[in-house]
Amino acid sequence: MLLEANKAFNLTAIRDPDEAWSRHILDSLTLLGVLAEIKAPEGEGGASVRIIDVGTGGGLPGIPLAIVRPDVSVTLLDATAKKCAFLEHVTREMGLTNVEVVCARAEVAGQDRGERTATGRVGGHRDAYDLVAARAVGRVATLSELTAGLARVGGLIALIKGEKAAEELEEARGALHLLHLAHAGTVQTGTGRIVVLEKLRATPKSYPRRDGEAKRAPLGKA
Ligand code: SAH
Repeated sequence: MLLEANKAFNLTAIRDPDEAWSRHILDSLTLLGVLAEIKAPEGEGGASVRIIDVGTGGGLPGIPLAIVRPDVSVTLLDATAKKCAFLEHVTREMGLTNVEVVCARAEVAGQDRGERTATGRVGGHRDAYDLVAARAVGRVATLSELTAGLARVGGLIALIKGEKAAEELEEARGALHLLHLAHAGTVQTGTGRIVVLEKLRATPKSYPRRDGEAKRAPLGKA
């Protein structure tokens, strides 16, 4: 479906099916190891682990993960309406009942605290996810601001990266500090590297900043 839709509008530069299997599907599934380390939340009658894929585009890495882990609840986030329509179509066609598509900017979702009720908050994306994943959306300094608010305290952020992982991480040191994120480790995989961050404490209220700022002026840069 990805390669078919790609003929009508641009979702990926990769058009060869064999290459797409390794560069897209296997690369997405490298997150399975990180996902395996996450425990289901306590209580609430067996609530499932929640992942959000920030800037999912054509559904990578979120859709492959949702297929192989039907027990995990996957939210696909993208700001482009056309991509969201495609993702809705794929979700319906494949009967993926564990997938939700949210068409919004990460800056907005990251500040969405849901509604306050007598018993607490309901809905909203802030502090809601056990794992926040992203691939090919930006550098670590920018992505850390776009993802931090979405993770729960103690939750993980897993960024699929390539050879520049260490360099980007070094550049993001100031941002990680301001966002209360720690570098939990970098995993070398068959297709690249995964930079894993842990959310140590609540994200300061002002982050993520308004649309475009995380990319225009990454945090922690003099
Ligand atoms: N993760 C996919 C797509 C990468 S392209 C893959 O690996 O193939 C980057 C995607 O991120 C685009 O679809 C773009 O619409 C989305 N995006 C970029 N900035 C965003 C933001 N601030 N909020 C939400 N989506 C964003």
